[in-house]
Amino acid sequence: MKAAVVRALGEPLVIEDRPDPEPGPGQVRVRVEASGLCHTDIHAAHGDWPVKPAPPFVPGHEGVGIVEKLGAGVTHLVLGQRVAVPWLGKACGRCAHCLSGWETLCESQVNTGYGCDGGYAEKMLAWADFAQPVPEGVSALDAAPLTCAGVTTYKALKVADVRPAQLVAISGVGGLGHLAVQYAKIAGARVAAIDVTDDKLVLARELGADIVIDARTQDVGAELRRHGGAHAALALAVHPAAFQAVNSGLRRGGKLVMVALPADGTLQLPIFDTVLNGTSVIGSIVGTRQDLAEVFQLHAEGRTKVIRESRPLAAVNDCIDEVLRGHVKARIVFDLTTGG
Ligand code: NAD
Ligand code: ZN
Ligand code: ZN
Repeated sequence: MKAAVVRALGEPLVIEDRPDPEPGPGQVRVRVEASGLCHTDIHAAHGDWPVKPAPPFVPGHEGVGIVEKLGAGVTHLVLGQRVAVPWLGKACGRCAHCLSGWETLCESQVNTGYGCDGGYAEKMLAWADFAQPVPEGVSALDAAPLTCAGVTTYKALKVADVRPAQLVAISGVGGLGHLAVQYAKIAGARVAAIDVTDDKLVLARELGADIVIDARTQDVGAELRRHGGAHAALALAVHPAAFQAVNSGLRRGGKLVMVALPADGTLQLPIFDTVLNGTSVIGSIVGTRQDLAEVFQLHAEGRTKVIRESRPLAAVNDCIDEVLRGHVKARIVFDLTTGG
């Protein structure tokens, strides 16, 4: 089977032929149909973060495909079933975080495409308990971006406790942001979308944003304050300055939810304003299996739209460049069914 492999951090990925992986106890082998390119995969391949993955590894945590082999003890998945394999590859199931519905904070978790091989491959392994069944009516190409971009932003809005009639700022209308706009609308909020490309601002409007702000030419904080200030702001753009800008547009009592993970990841917060305005800063990491089930349900009900461009896996390095240059409409999805 073919896989796109990071052999050294910061180097282009290499397409390799590898033997099909054998599922161990509790695992399944998935024949990947579609695999999304999350900006996190670029951070992984570049070794951007303090905790680095160990090459060689296969990135990808938006892999979706068909279960084709069951490891020992797997009883609840069946051959031929479509599943998604998210970032949360496995958690312990026993710690206080797991037991309290916060499996995403488990300290023993294994992350797909980071701590174990991921979805940039024709075949991959998944722990059966964390492989998410994809409902009828949700295509593999749509399910892929929902598996990280969808669940992460859906969860971030839950974390922000967004209520109808609130103003929610979505900073960065990329893979994550284009879904965030839609979930914020579903939650009943008024949405201000912020980006630095014309295409993304047009897309945000098409997806329901009430206000669009061009961070190249407009003062993001002042614009948001002019509209009353944001009750919640999701920081999805991969630049600390974008966090700063959107934070300054919170209303009193507002919440900044940090989601993007820029390499130079330090945010300077004005203590005086934070205290006097009673604002909060919250980190949010992906979402649980239940969150992903809800994301798939919403899509199956026709309430969300995935904006994607499909590409062959062989184009992986060009695709990474396109994301970094901001030339992608929202999400690139590798189509593994074409044999390219
Ligand atoms: P992306 O590249 O698809 O989207 C980023 C968007 O930000 C683009 O539309 C870009 O035009 C826009 N942008 C750039 N500069 C901006 C600025 N100054 N102001 C406003 N917008 C600006 O990336 P993505 O796949 O959506 O991922 C975004 C980030 O989220 C990455 O850092 C990724 O690692 C991180 N991430 C975090 C989690 C989590 O659980 N916390 C999950 C998935 C991804
Ligand atoms: Zn991701
Ligand atoms: Zn745990």
